[in-house]
Amino acid sequence: LESVIASPEVVHYICKRFDIKMSKKLGQNFLIKRGIVDEIVHAADLTPGEPVLEVGPGIGTLTQGLAQSGADVTAIELDRRLLEVLDTTLAPYNNVRIVHGDVLKLDVAAIMNHKPFKVVANLPYYITTPIIMSLLESKLPIERLVVMVQKEVALRMVAKPGTKDYGALSVAVQYYTEPDIVLDVPPKSFLPVPAVTSSVIRCVLRDKPPVNVADERLFFRVVKAGFAQRRKTFANTMRTTGLSKEQIEEILSKAGIDGRRRGETFSLQEFADVANAWAEL
Ligand code: SAM
Repeated sequence: LESVIASPEVVHYICKRFDIKMSKKLGQNFLIKRGIVDEIVHAADLTPGEPVLEVGPGIGTLTQGLAQSGADVTAIELDRRLLEVLDTTLAPYNNVRIVHGDVLKLDVAAIMNHKPFKVVANLPYYITTPIIMSLLESKLPIERLVVMVQKEVALRMVAKPGTKDYGALSVAVQYYTEPDIVLDVPPKSFLPVPAVTSSVIRCVLRDKPPVNVADERLFFRVVKAGFAQRRKTFANTMRTTGLSKEQIEEILSKAGIDGRRRGETFSLQEFADVANAWAEL
């Protein structure tokens, strides 16, 4: 019989037996609700044998659900103390491979054998955005991301222009993926109990970007500039790129954009129009 790891009793028992003190520094909040694990696995839409990468398996709560789907699971865990725990809790599953290391430093493409895969994770909150950005920017053959993040971050990922949550993260996530929030998860679903509500967000990678961009590097420089100084006009905040006032005026007139607007009101299309006008300079 496979006992469910994601329950308050089992998580308590495992932490006691292996003398694990959850590390706040490593963002360790373990799921204790099997229902949430099931919802995450469902949102990933896994088929048997399909490669899936889990970031931060912890003691294996979510990993167990992934393994039971029949997917081919690779889980990267930074905390060395957890390796022997995972060895024990995941012993019944021969479709799980644990890799020790920092997901931001490892060669993920090589670990996943340069084949398409999905990412499923309850992310460590202290590096949520760096992990998501590094996975998206690395151009790995990722098909979708289903990740638990702080609700506030999930809202930023799906935010539309002109709203308070709209920022560089919104633009990047929506440029690479189609994101939607699957469900909100209350603090009591974790041990230890975090201070904030979490959300599971599903990001399905696009085949191609939603806007035409001549030079992605310029596009993201414009986006960064657009949000660099929130209370300034776009024409002013564009100065952070090092362009002269005259060059910025030329770009804006070519793009047909009013430089007195604020960057945070710009759609992806408008950021692209500016970047493409810059590319032609
Ligand atoms: N998946 C487990 C669960 O849902 O119960 C644990 C999730 S916990 C929020 C985040 C996990 O990520 C922890 O186990 C932590 O040790 C691990 N972690 C933190 N930083 C990491 C990094 N840079 N690379 C890989 N894993 C990391």
